[in-house]
Amino acid sequence: MAKQILVVGSVAIDDIETPAGHRSDSLGGSATYFSTGASFFAPIRLVAVVGSDFDAAELDDLRSRGVDLEGLEQVPGKTFRWAGRYGADFGDAETLDTQLNVFEDFDPKIPESYRETPLVFLANIHPELQGRVLDAFEGHRPELIGADTMNFWITGQRDALLKVLSRIDLLVINETEAHMLSGKKNIYDAADAIRAMGPKILVIKRGAYGALLFHPDGLFVAPSVPLRKLADPTGAGDTFASGLMGYLATCDTLNFEAFKRGVLAGTVLASFACEGFSFDRVKTLTRVDFDERMMQLRALISVD
Ligand code: AMP
Repeated sequence: MAKQILVVGSVAIDDIETPAGHRSDSLGGSATYFSTGASFFAPIRLVAVVGSDFDAAELDDLRSRGVDLEGLEQVPGKTFRWAGRYGADFGDAETLDTQLNVFEDFDPKIPESYRETPLVFLANIHPELQGRVLDAFEGHRPELIGADTMNFWITGQRDALLKVLSRIDLLVINETEAHMLSGKKNIYDAADAIRAMGPKILVIKRGAYGALLFHPDGLFVAPSVPLRKLADPTGAGDTFASGLMGYLATCDTLNFEAFKRGVLAGTVLASFACEGFSFDRVKTLTRVDFDERMMQLRALISVD
């Protein structure tokens, strides 16, 4: 039986432009992507807020995937909104607009039933909110605390973010963010500087070029799954983290080997996220699809 994972992060309505097309008012948010992906592996508890404009049918879909929504509040007002654009290389998103809306005054209440959740993931959201969720675990620290963030918070809320980093075990960020956070150009220097801020385990995602895992027991490098056609990379980072944390939730021992296999699970799940707009592809994903692509990835990286 997989361990439970609690996630806090955004539940959003996105406007997305990619070289493959444009979609308005589409479901998004770091916690939504994370919950959908991680629910392939483990039971999820979601802490977030949505406004009165949020479509209840989307919540039913999450519930049907085994996502516990007791920690999700619906309040009067507008749901978080984000607009982003991807260039011809489908690389880092350019943020066109961020409207925090109901997240401006959100004070997360952690239901009593969530307080002993063994794995916690602080998906991309205001670092003060991430910190407040950790406060609820004072006295009974989770087995593993992971987190994500982005340029918006690295530049805008650095002090709050540094406090969060000092309290976590695992950080999952992309390469541009790693350079921005550390101020270092060389990837080893950047990793050393970030790990000195708190998280002893660091995953640096490099988009189409894969991911690096810096762990106290060594370095692991995974390629991405090469895709012939991409539609929309939105949520790929959150989905990657969901595969990593979800896989770890199925492990008794969280050692270097488990993290390596978790990075491969994240890589496989993220590849599906890029193949459709919003959640289109991930929502239709089956266990067989996942296992086949994992075999394909393992074949691509195995040598005698
Ligand atoms: P990813 O592509 O994995 O970085 O995740 C994209 C998702 O993150 C989108 O669905 C957005 O709604 C959400 N997002 C974008 N900016 C922020 C932000 N500043 N805080 C929280 N979530 C955000």
